[in-house]
Amino acid sequence: MDLRPNSDEARDIAYHFHSYTNPRVHEEQGPLIMDRGEGIYVFDTQGNRYIEGMSGLWSVAVGFHEQRLIDAATQQMAKLPYYHNFAHRSHGPAIDLAEKLIGMAPVPMSKVFFTNSGSEANDTILKMLWYRSNALGKPEKKKVISRIRGYHGVTVASASMTGLPYNHKSFDLPIDGILHTTCPHYWREGRDGESEEDFATRCAEDLDAMIQSEGPDTIAAFIAEPLMGAGGVVVPPVTYWEKIQAVLGKYDILLIADEVICGFGRTGKMFGSETFDIRPDIMTLSKQITSSYFPFSAFMMTEEVYAPIADEAGRIGVLGHGYTGGAHPVGAAVALENLKIIEERDLVANAAERGAELQAGLRGFAGHPHVGEARGVGLIGALEIVAPEGREEGFNPGQLGAAMNKHFLKNGLISRAMMDAMAFCPPLIITAAQVRDILTAVEQSLEGFAAEMQV
Ligand code: PMP
Repeated sequence: MDLRPNSDEARDIAYHFHSYTNPRVHEEQGPLIMDRGEGIYVFDTQGNRYIEGMSGLWSVAVGFHEQRLIDAATQQMAKLPYYHNFAHRSHGPAIDLAEKLIGMAPVPMSKVFFTNSGSEANDTILKMLWYRSNALGKPEKKKVISRIRGYHGVTVASASMTGLPYNHKSFDLPIDGILHTTCPHYWREGRDGESEEDFATRCAEDLDAMIQSEGPDTIAAFIAEPLMGAGGVVVPPVTYWEKIQAVLGKYDILLIADEVICGFGRTGKMFGSETFDIRPDIMTLSKQITSSYFPFSAFMMTEEVYAPIADEAGRIGVLGHGYTGGAHPVGAAVALENLKIIEERDLVANAAERGAELQAGLRGFAGHPHVGEARGVGLIGALEIVAPEGREEGFNPGQLGAAMNKHFLKNGLISRAMMDAMAFCPPLIITAAQVRDILTAVEQSLEGFAAEMQV
């Protein structure tokens, strides 16, 4: 690392407080500074090339230098660089995008509300649920059930819905009224002799029991990712969604599908809700909506969700909610062009085909002494790194991902360690040859890791 006083590295350490980073380790180790992107690759300032096996943060569908998005942003900047949607104002890109999203929705949706991040969208959804329950004269119906290891963001409400310890600890979260039910990870949570379907039944029974003990009339909604992403790429067990939806239906509890990672092709269909046959009342959208070239998010809701909220705001006189950057015209223009590219290039079909190759390749590592489970759907997957059986001594559970990550980087592959799991979530434009390159880098990294661990 270049630590001359004026180097980028030294200035980063001096001035830049990083997200999701151990600050004290960073002060010692410094940053990996990225300089430019091209297709599925990014290049650091030393000129090293990496396959961006995580699409940045699960989000750059069309790769790291898509001229059409650059042009869409530039043209919108030149025409109308900013406007808002407060007080009945609107603009073309917001109208076009709202119509487009409603047209794409896997179930009939009525309205789109625009926000700036996944966290902000989920935070807003919670406020809307509270507002709606008040409108319906059910002020006690305000609690939301989420899941252990679910990820819904980091603002006060969305971090509360997130079910990961480091998002709560010392932040004084979760807030009251947010509950977490069983994580549907069969490999980790399934009991001896319990089939995958029986485990799914148990997850639904746990949810039912939680609703019963809290009081069904106090629960407004259940929020979940169709397939859990940041909590470790957890694919729900077969029959899970069917059973969970049956429970929610019994108690008139809304279902929020957080499609922030799954949306726009990631699982091999346009939405994760289609892959898993989910019929949501609200859908959270972000990340791949603009390929993250512009911070942008939204949520869609059914008429049944929207109507009481609109009635209440009508009675009060105004909807007391909105963001300066919400429905940003540049973000909306980028989203429209990005969705056009996804459709024109049939990137959803590519995600399904390349996804099948990636999944087969990952499953091929399942017999490796350091791989406990290979899992995923479409272009999202993970390998669970474990200590070899009987040799647990000297291995640090929870730290294996970080140790593995070094080897991936050495082999030119960016992955993401989520405790002991390594995630794979490459851009939707990936080719078959590039999928093979990822698998080769994984194989070499597993060898390097095993050698380091002296297996
Ligand atoms: N929901 C899900 C499913 C996510 O994966 C994320 C981000 N990883 C968020 C919400 C929060 O999005 P943001 O980081 O844009 O606030």
